[in-house]
Amino acid sequence: MNLSAKRKDSCSIAAFEQAKKVIPGGVNSPVRAFSSVDLTPVFAARGQGARVFDIDGNEFIDYIGSWGPLILGHAHPEVVEAIKEAASRGTSFGLSTEIEIKMAEWICKSIPSIEMVRMVNSGTEASMSALRLARGYTKRQKIVKFQGGYHGHADALLIKSGSGVATLGLPDSPGVPDSVAAHTLTAPYNSMDSVRFLFEQYGEQIAAVIVEPVAGNMGVIPPAPGFLHGLREVTKQYGSLLIFDEVMTGYRVSFHGAQGLYGIDPDLTCLGKIIGGGLPVGAYGGKREIMEQVAPVGSIYQAGTLSGNPLAMAAGYRTLQLLEEPGFYEELDRKAARLAEGFTQNAELTGIPLKTNRVGSMFSAFFAEQEVFDYDSAKRSNMQLFKAYYAAMLDLGILTAPTPYEVNFVSAAHSDEDIERTISVHYQALIKISNR
Ligand code: PMP
Repeated sequence: MNLSAKRKDSCSIAAFEQAKKVIPGGVNSPVRAFSSVDLTPVFAARGQGARVFDIDGNEFIDYIGSWGPLILGHAHPEVVEAIKEAASRGTSFGLSTEIEIKMAEWICKSIPSIEMVRMVNSGTEASMSALRLARGYTKRQKIVKFQGGYHGHADALLIKSGSGVATLGLPDSPGVPDSVAAHTLTAPYNSMDSVRFLFEQYGEQIAAVIVEPVAGNMGVIPPAPGFLHGLREVTKQYGSLLIFDEVMTGYRVSFHGAQGLYGIDPDLTCLGKIIGGGLPVGAYGGKREIMEQVAPVGSIYQAGTLSGNPLAMAAGYRTLQLLEEPGFYEELDRKAARLAEGFTQNAELTGIPLKTNRVGSMFSAFFAEQEVFDYDSAKRSNMQLFKAYYAAMLDLGILTAPTPYEVNFVSAAHSDEDIERTISVHYQALIKISNR
């Protein structure tokens, strides 16, 4: 390992300058700008397995994994083949295709609470549509979301958000009408007391609670024991719906989602990321009685020109089939556990205060003295240390999320060698920052 290695970035600097002239901030999604770590963004040229190669010729072991979809790694040959095969027969019809039925059947079979499912084009669309459905079904307007939770950028959900909103330190976004924001109530993640308090005040007006069952947009924050069960109980008691946003956790933390892992039966579930195999996709589904309120059976409207797109369905379907291989999740879990254990040991060896949170193959590391269990504790982590650490990791060829408010993902393509290399680079990065 060449410890004085520096990432080459002249081509990326030039590309970023060019991009900024025609794309706001030079990026099509804010976190890609690497602004919170004050570095030039990585411009990807290609990916293969666990590796990303950028336009400067750098090679990275990648833990961004397109922010979650790439559980099989980049350009998995069988997924690429499925996309090619589908594309050769036409890219979109605006008519129904058989693969949409197969996909829906697969989802209903594997996610316990989903009896019917509708495909959309992104996680944003999935949660926005689930919310409209919950409001239409209950005939109520208020919703509860959690501080630091991110469910995409629909108006009602862009309140006290995580992900890029947290990374950029933006207050609630301008452009969201007050009349919409007024219906969004927020509580700290993992605080059942706060949720009960909101229900005591507004219970009869609350259409739904929407929650990431494992929070993944303020780093990884596991649900405290009893938290998800508590949400199920209180929503039932007041006739509100429980929406699990499993856009990130679906097929990630288990083949049956977080709801399978924790044994909870939500009314509606949002999916995205993995179910598109790296192509744009989302889905929302749940109890038949509720889903049948969606048009054209019911009167709650939701539609999409490209929904159920044959390329996305082919990529997603092939991906899901590969996840069913015996031992798939155990193997992923083993590698991620080793990585987290290595990070924790490195922190002990170097005396740097680092808390590594992990659920399955989702992990994040906070430079914090205390446990991180909600948005406020995540915000108390040390950003200066993170920046220095991040730059050191990148220079040594490890690509992780350029902010503590996102998750890193281990994929099936990461080898044991990749994991061990990452642990030793991590150690070097901690040494480097401890000497500052
Ligand atoms: N919900 C969750 C839990 C997410 O993590 C995300 C994106 N990271 C979304 C919704 C929004 O998905 P998309 O970016 O596909 O709109």
